[in-house]
Amino acid sequence: MSGILVAGETLIDFVPERAGPLADVPGFERRPGGAPANVAVALARLESPPLFWTRVGADPFGRYLERTLTDHGLPDRFLERDPTAKTSLAFVTHDETGDREFTFYRDGTADTRLEPSRVDDATLADCEWVHAGGVALASGSARAATLDLLERAAAADCTVSFDPNLRPELWSDEGSFASVVGDALAHVDVCLATETELAALGFEGESARALARATIEEGPVHTAFVTRGSAGSVAVAGSDAPWPAATAEHPGFAVDAVDTTGAGDAFVAGAIVALRDGRDLETTVTFANAVGARATTARGGMTALPTREEAAALLEE
Ligand code: ADP
Repeated sequence: MSGILVAGETLIDFVPERAGPLADVPGFERRPGGAPANVAVALARLESPPLFWTRVGADPFGRYLERTLTDHGLPDRFLERDPTAKTSLAFVTHDETGDREFTFYRDGTADTRLEPSRVDDATLADCEWVHAGGVALASGSARAATLDLLERAAAADCTVSFDPNLRPELWSDEGSFASVVGDALAHVDVCLATETELAALGFEGESARALARATIEEGPVHTAFVTRGSAGSVAVAGSDAPWPAATAEHPGFAVDAVDTTGAGDAFVAGAIVALRDGRDLETTVTFANAVGARATTARGGMTALPTREEAAALLEE
């Protein structure tokens, strides 16, 4: 067992040229996006290119995304092209405080049409780590496909990690998000989330640390990372984790952040790489924060993803 498999959406983010309501934004910049795509590319930058199971449309945007993924060194074995569905689009807006919202064009699009069992058991037997996120659970056959993947990955003894990626715009209500993501967490070892996401999932805690503890309390999740934007992150590993039980915290690196899109995805990649390298939780949290911080230093979720050397340089500063 050696490899990593990442699964989920690749889509186009249209990033606004200025803050304000969607109707008032005159122009947008096209960026490759989708949280799992960002994680997969971030892993490739960290010299750990995963298999990436995704599905784009057979349209110009799909071809652009395919080229982006392969240019970053990702293998095309599980890169599907849907002959009849279009590629998803997400228009981003920022309010005056920098808070982000999405307007999705994602009804019946290619990434919602992943189908169960495309990744076979023999592939999973060769994988040490499988990562997925919550957007794929929101609609279409991708929901069943993702749940099926997580269940079989857990049965194959892969370490399963998951990022809820709450996008309220994609769920009819918070209850359906909590219920479907709750089903997914039944197969998850490592959960990486924000405080808002954990609260939406029904976990209770006065602090990030308490929320992380609550997340691992009932299992099977044994390790929880809570990311806190520029304030860094907290992680807790329980006694049933394959690495030493610990609580770790990092206050975040001071960087000139210009765009935090994909910071959480870069953080996920950093955490996976460090844990697979056999690092303890403290070192892992520090490294993942460095990767996340570096990712904010240029516009676009895939633009400023660091190499191992670049992340290490930030650690030494
Ligand atoms: P998400 O992108 O999922 O909303 P966060 O905003 O919590 O997640 O960011 C994930 C991680 O990226 C943080 O824990 C931190 O390490 C890093 N990060 C995010 N924003 C900044 C920032 N402004 N300055 C430094 N590091 C940041």
